[in-house]
Amino acid sequence: MPELLNQIREQLAALQEQKLLRKRRIVDGPQGPLLDVDGRQYLAFCSNDYLGLANHPALHAAAAAGLEKYGVGASASALISGHTSVVEELEQALAAFVGMPRALHFSTGYMANMGTIPALVGPGDVVFSDRLNHACLIDGARLSGAQFRIYPHADVARLEELLAKSSSPRKLIVTDAIFSMDGDIAPLPELLALCEKYDAWMLVDDAHGFGVLGPQGRGSLAHFGIQSQRILYMGTLGKAAGVAGAFVAGDALLIEWLLQRARTYVFTTASPPLLASALLAAVKVMQDEDWRHQHLRELIARLRSGLAGLPWPLLPSETAVQALIVEDNQLALDLMEGLREQGISVPAIRPPTVPKGTARLRISLSAAHSIEQVDQLASALHALAANNADASARGMTRNVIE
Ligand SMILES: *Cc1c(COP(=O)(O)O)cnc(C)c1O
Repeated sequence: MPELLNQIREQLAALQEQKLLRKRRIVDGPQGPLLDVDGRQYLAFCSNDYLGLANHPALHAAAAAGLEKYGVGASASALISGHTSVVEELEQALAAFVGMPRALHFSTGYMANMGTIPALVGPGDVVFSDRLNHACLIDGARLSGAQFRIYPHADVARLEELLAKSSSPRKLIVTDAIFSMDGDIAPLPELLALCEKYDAWMLVDDAHGFGVLGPQGRGSLAHFGIQSQRILYMGTLGKAAGVAGAFVAGDALLIEWLLQRARTYVFTTASPPLLASALLAAVKVMQDEDWRHQHLRELIARLRSGLAGLPWPLLPSETAVQALIVEDNQLALDLMEGLREQGISVPAIRPPTVPKGTARLRISLSAAHSIEQVDQLASALHALAANNADASARGMTRNVIE
């Protein structure tokens, strides 16, 4: 066997050994609280479809109308012939919705960050990054060739020290607005104050806040009531908005620059226009069906009170992402399996997605869930915790047996 294949086979075996090998399961049918996975139906708490729009009839109808009008493919990049009237309209609607001068549509959030950061900074500049930021902010910063400085999670004082020491011409702070595996919200007003004090700029990744936080889901900046020319706002459209894609909004000059220079915008085929049709409907539903935001808040409160008394800490979070920290990789897998046996699907998240020793169940809620479904999850977890405690008391934990 060629050496490369040998090495890769060993590396895969090592992942298996460390319980870090990931497996895909096959989903059939639309997204929703009841999900058909590998031929069985589960009550699912694993999607980022926070408002329950991924299978909403208004989005279906709009996608079908978009299909009729534009066909399936965009055929070329936006700068050649792929920029359709519906995408133009979507960019304007998104900019207005988040209260920024202009927006640019990208195919995915990953591509938006990978294109935006290198368009703004390069060698000689510095990117300051929260330790828990999403992979695509980190990869975008690396790709830019700028110096990369990590500050401890949400540690504004430490970030200020780093900024004060820096004499580089361009300083860019990059941060998740809601941290995807923890669910807490970045201290955006304090970060903005540092931008103003130290002549820095900020890219806010609101993948989990757009559609969820702020009035009508206008996002994390609206949640805090902040606005600034120094902020570029990245929202993704495959999570709360229920479809796919992303946008970057901000000062009109910055957005024009991205249009010229963000390589993941310029050198890629535009996404199918029918997705933009569906997204226009999503932005409208967010405004017309505010009950979805209210219901989601009720579910969050219900889950948090329902999980009180478990032996594992629930991280503080007022968002749809709720993390139950069990620390041990195997315990996280056992709990995931235990829930699965009861017909409930909650993902176990392990390193390297989260720091070592912080394996967790990542529970995500959607406005499509009912109160009863959330109660069902809470009871199942209490039952598993009781079993686990019994087993420990009898000296029968897996560790002892081994
Ligand atoms: C999901 C996610 C992205 C990537 O967005 P996609 O549109 O799925 O590529 C970026 N940032 C954060 C924080 C995310 O959670």
